[in-house]
Formats: sequence, C-alpha cells, structure tokens
Amino acid sequence: MKIKKCPVCGIGTLKKRIENEPFEYKGKQITIPNYITYACAECGEAVVDPITLKESGKILKDFQREVDGLLNGAQIKAIRMKMGMTQEQLAEIIGGGLKAVARYEIGTVCQSRGMDNLLRILDAYPETLKVIQKKIGTGKRIAQVIDIEDVRNKKNYRYPGEAYSIDKIGGAAYGT
Ligand SMILES: [Zn+2]
Repeated sequence: MKIKKCPVCGIGTLKKRIENEPFEYKGKQITIPNYITYACAECGEAVVDPITLKESGKILKDFQREVDGLLNGAQIKAIRMKMGMTQEQLAEIIGGGLKAVARYEIGTVCQSRGMDNLLRILDAYPETLKVIQKKIGTGKRIAQVIDIEDVRNKKNYRYPGEAYSIDKIGGAAYGT
C-alpha cells in the first residue's frame, strides 16, 4: 500500500505500523503477530492492511471455532480427505453447497454446531456415509431401494418426474 492521505481527516498521511495485535473472544485471548495497520499521525485513526485483514480473519475464525469447541478448517479438510472426497462430494453429503465447504476449510465461515456434529460422526463412523448417500441419490437410485411389495401393490410405481414400470424395478418376476 502506497503512502497516502488519511481517509478520515484528509490532512495527515498514513504511516505503516507492524505490531502484535491482541484479540479477545468469549474471554479467551489470541495475539496475531505482524499485524499491519496504517495510522494517521494527525487524527490517530488507523486502517488495517487488506492482506492482514484477510489473513487474520481466517486465524480468528479458527480461534473462534476452537473456543466454541468446533472443528477448525484443517480438521474439516482432514476428515474430507480421509473419506476420499472432493469438496463437491462432501457438499452433496452435508449440504450448503461447494462454496460453503470451501469456506469452512479456508476459514472464512464457521460451520453450525449441527454441521460440526455430522462431520464428527462421519469421521468416527465412516460407514454411516452409506445411509446418507442412499437418501441423496437420484430418483432412480431411490427407486431401486423401494420395497418391492409396495411396488407390487401399486402396480405402477410413479416417482416424481418419472413413471416406473414394474418391469424396470422388479425385473421379470412381477411381469408374469
Ligand atoms: Zn487522519
């Protein structure tokens, strides 16, 4: 950032300052080193360097999650990698979209408690993934797990958007 006039008073010039900046969240403290601000000698106002603001924002979100007992970005990424999933695939499982997953991981957004619990369950019991995957499958995949008795009773099971014939689902056994 170039030396420029103070945006507040318009008189003084901004001077770069590098400090250890303390932050507090729910009574817990964290200090961010090399925190860059540009302060005005005239009015005393200071603006935070945009890169510092972005980087410290991620550190603070992780700190906030730690204080709140939530998984941090690196932990969420580790769980996803362990399950061998892309961000997109994880987004499909836990909801919220691809952007949300990316944000949880880089630390610009905190996940909810419920989301955090789900991630912990998936981490501890990866086999539960199958339960969720069955639910979010396409109509065709769900149709395949429909109770065949149900299909038999209704003759022509109709799934939203698509009509399934008994032949398609149950095979030859019910066609005769
Ligand atoms: Zn000023």
